[in-house]
Amino acid sequence: MQSRDDKLRVLIVGGGVAGLTVARELTQRGEHEVRLLEASSSLGGNIQTERTEGLIIESGPDSFLHTKPWAAELARELGLGDQMMSPRSGASRVFMVKRGRLVRMPPGMALGVPTDPVAFLGSPLLSTAAKARAIVEPFVPRGGGGDESVATFLERRIGSGATRELAGPLLSGIHAGDVEQLSIESAFPQLVDMERKHGSLVLGMLEGRAGLKPVGSRLSRLRRALSASTSKPSPFVSFRGGMSTFVEALADSLPSGVVATEAAVERIERLSDGRFAAVLADASREFADIVVLAVPAHRAAAIVTDDSFAHQLRGIEYASTATVYFALRAANVQHPCSGSGFIVPPGEGRLLAGTFISSKWEGRAPEGVIALRAFFGGMRDPTLVEELDNAQLTALAKSELERLLGSIGEPLQSRVFRYMRASPQPNVGHEARVATIFESLNSQPGLFVTGAAYRGFGIPDVVREARQLARRI
Ligand SMILES: Cc1cc2nc3c(=O)[nH]c(=O)nc-3n(C[C@H](O)[C@H](O)[C@H](O)COP(=O)(O)OP(=O)(O)OC[C@H]3O[C@@H](n4cnc5c(N)ncnc54)[C@H](O)[C@@H]3O)c2cc1C
Repeated sequence: MQSRDDKLRVLIVGGGVAGLTVARELTQRGEHEVRLLEASSSLGGNIQTERTEGLIIESGPDSFLHTKPWAAELARELGLGDQMMSPRSGASRVFMVKRGRLVRMPPGMALGVPTDPVAFLGSPLLSTAAKARAIVEPFVPRGGGGDESVATFLERRIGSGATRELAGPLLSGIHAGDVEQLSIESAFPQLVDMERKHGSLVLGMLEGRAGLKPVGSRLSRLRRALSASTSKPSPFVSFRGGMSTFVEALADSLPSGVVATEAAVERIERLSDGRFAAVLADASREFADIVVLAVPAHRAAAIVTDDSFAHQLRGIEYASTATVYFALRAANVQHPCSGSGFIVPPGEGRLLAGTFISSKWEGRAPEGVIALRAFFGGMRDPTLVEELDNAQLTALAKSELERLLGSIGEPLQSRVFRYMRASPQPNVGHEARVATIFESLNSQPGLFVTGAAYRGFGIPDVVREARQLARRI
């Protein structure tokens, strides 16, 4: 329904970072009347920070990549430039569990690609055969073609040993996914690009960092790239007050009256004049000329009335995860918990990974307190999060951490955060599925979807997609 001053009315469903970014872009432009409806009582979606007793507790995301510039740019526009912070210097140390112990991953690993041959060859994490195969990656001819799984792509480039022991567990963790199913093109397009442009992941990483052109024989390029190689600062940033700082600034940048919380949309109906009516859980209705569904794809599927479109949206699979947070008295913790955390490969226990929060970030816990997070579930353990209650998850996290780190004492604080069907899986065929969804939208004027399900999974990509969509509107 066009509003009194004849501006088109845009209804955004979902107040996560995607919905808030669309709302900000549109309200800044001032050409539309904007309304955002969020089902829960707080904005931010996956991003939720709890601040209590000197602790800054992230339930989900704890940082984002600044090397993909879109979220950092938006943060600076929001005046948060001086509130962004990098991890502490020692946080570049990451561990992998091997036979029940934490073993440091070789320095220079980037997205599972070894860029420091000396460190890589010296690592006890891999067999000699696996190292020998991985180290010749710069000379492996281009291959593939078509959408491949992450596992197939990595095995082709660095061999099965390094894929299984190192790169696979690392990359699967980013999506809480399964490398046998994840699509390399959709989940890690930058790796596909490196192979395409540089003929090699190692060369692509090193030449990309040093700004070198891929010219000459592979051997001469490798020599040149290795001698130009310098260690890179962390690609991640967070906010001093936690990730919700970003959400709060986005929300504060919106005019009053735009946002409604505890406003769950149950159905979006198309009216005979082509506009929309959103039916809310309390049976009230909101009318709009344009609707943006900034919710997970399975939630969007439950809202739309077109069955075949809903079926396409349901084609995007999701994984459930849980994070268990502990604040511990440092004096009671046997392990130094230094570095940023550890990854648990399949077969090494029920945890997916752990983060040494207070070692990774400044100001997350007071002096003398160690803050840790344990991650469970994902495609590796798909039913665990549903089967265990909070007390069981807490007990499991404590026993698994103690198996790896030694005694941790009785926690000063603990929290369980559940993310049910919150991690979209960009599995093989994802791009084709997304293309079908977007084609369907061409015949549904005024209806749009955005968010982590489609063409960007981390916060920077979600911001980029949301801004692009706002421009299209
Ligand atoms: C555990 C976890 C850790 C992560 N860590 C990182 C990280 O460290 N760095 C990073 O870059 N990314 C990380 N991500 C990914 C990141 O969280 C997402 O990319 C991003 O937050 C997605 O934002 P969104 O707005 O698309 O969706 P969401 O955050 O899911 O927001 C959707 C919103 O829609 C609302 N909603 C749903 N249905 C309805 C309805 N019917 N009516 C009204 N509102 C509705 C929901 O309540 C929610 O607020 C992580 C994700 C998870 C699950």
